[in-house]
Amino acid sequence: MQIDWSTIRTGDADRLHGTTIDISGWMIPLDAQADAVDYFLLSADEPCCGGCVPRNPLTSIEVQMAAPLAPQAEVLALRGRLVCLLDDPAGWRYRLVDAMPLDRPQASQRRFSRRAFLASGVALGLTACAPGHFAGYTEARDETAQTTPSKQSETVPRWQAPAGTFTIDMHSHGGRVIVSRNPVIGANRPFIPLATPMRAGGMNVICLAIVTDTTVTRVADNRKRFEAWREPQPGELYALGQTEFLRAHQLVEREQIRVVTNIASLTALGAQGPCAIISAEGADFLEGQVDRVDEAYTKHQLRHLQLTHYRVNELGDIQTEPPVHGGLTDIGAQVVQRCNALGIVVDVAHGTYDLVKRAANTSTKPLVLSHSALATHPGARSRLITPDHARVIACTGGVIGVWPSSGTFHDLHAMAEGVKRMADVIGVEHVGLGTDMLGFISPPVFRSYEQLPDLASALLLAGFSQAEVGAILGGNYLRVFQASVG
Ligand SMILES: [Zn+2]
Ligand SMILES: [Zn+2]
Repeated sequence: MQIDWSTIRTGDADRLHGTTIDISGWMIPLDAQADAVDYFLLSADEPCCGGCVPRNPLTSIEVQMAAPLAPQAEVLALRGRLVCLLDDPAGWRYRLVDAMPLDRPQASQRRFSRRAFLASGVALGLTACAPGHFAGYTEARDETAQTTPSKQSETVPRWQAPAGTFTIDMHSHGGRVIVSRNPVIGANRPFIPLATPMRAGGMNVICLAIVTDTTVTRVADNRKRFEAWREPQPGELYALGQTEFLRAHQLVEREQIRVVTNIASLTALGAQGPCAIISAEGADFLEGQVDRVDEAYTKHQLRHLQLTHYRVNELGDIQTEPPVHGGLTDIGAQVVQRCNALGIVVDVAHGTYDLVKRAANTSTKPLVLSHSALATHPGARSRLITPDHARVIACTGGVIGVWPSSGTFHDLHAMAEGVKRMADVIGVEHVGLGTDMLGFISPPVFRSYEQLPDLASALLLAGFSQAEVGAILGGNYLRVFQASVG
């Protein structure tokens, strides 16, 4: 069956999984020097130059030839079996396998395999929207990681923070900053130590996130998730915001943690540790009033604002409830613009794909998605994100924090593999760490800052370089903070 590129673009080709198809397109050989290739990309669009690699899985497909073929400069017609990829780590959607040219002779020369391609670094920018740096690991190093017997092994690599770099947690409720959901305890909830575990694990800076929908949300579905269960009273969530900002400042005072409010203080104090960037998870405290962003910036030193949380608020839709607004609202867009103008990092965690897309179109600064992980097909109400969702963040130059949910990862090594998958899709310079410390219903795989050296080792074992681990554990967020807050 002959198919055209609209079938690929629309995803209608999913129906053709396993069937033999004919398709024509431009061959993108990944090694321009090779005499013959058995793996390449077939693109709907003519390549603009030799070094240009198509990035969109809906306008190009992978091709695995039955026999190597000499690189072709003109449109190529192929017949092969179409495979719909469900969980491709590089984010491709379709692969044509056992492909044969319909009208050209075959050659049998030097082969350039997919494996070699992935290991070559040519995958740089393959799926990320912005040019970037592909994680420098190879399949050979993968195998080493898989056969490493245990964390106790003497061969466990230790991460040495490169000079001048420091670690940043993009999302934390450490120290029990949030009021208790139990109304009897409420704002009298005692704090727990925060600076000591940060020092012990080498965590320098945390985005300390208050939550301002706590009194109207509850644990639902047999402790599986949170949901909003009642409408707040007018003024209720604004008042909760005041209480929570006060708690955040009481906590940092008690723990002798320094609040950093601009790139100068962050770079001056960050490396010495414990520091906090005042953050809010959910802009519910605004109650739709955009000028309250200014108040939070000035009065409470807010520098990182997550637009939505577990309640569909005035700013937009959330992943865990059916959409109401069709994404980001006009008020949400105004809040993004106000954050850009003031110097507040915009965080779109918990927001729907539609929310993220409009936020990306609205924001003049890179976006953060502080805590999530990849899934090819997230279920209803899932907090995980698709590769396309992740790419929107990368396209703004932003960062996605991989979170340590035990529902997603069974241990730190699995989490490190999750970080690697994210880096495969969007480039290592767009990946960070969002621990969501003390924010989980079930204990996560990273539950104390004292585990940070173990996580860093797991990232090294997963194949990241020392410098890449530094970027993931802090450098990438630092870049976005500098661009957003200045
Ligand atoms: Zn969250
Ligand atoms: Zn959280």
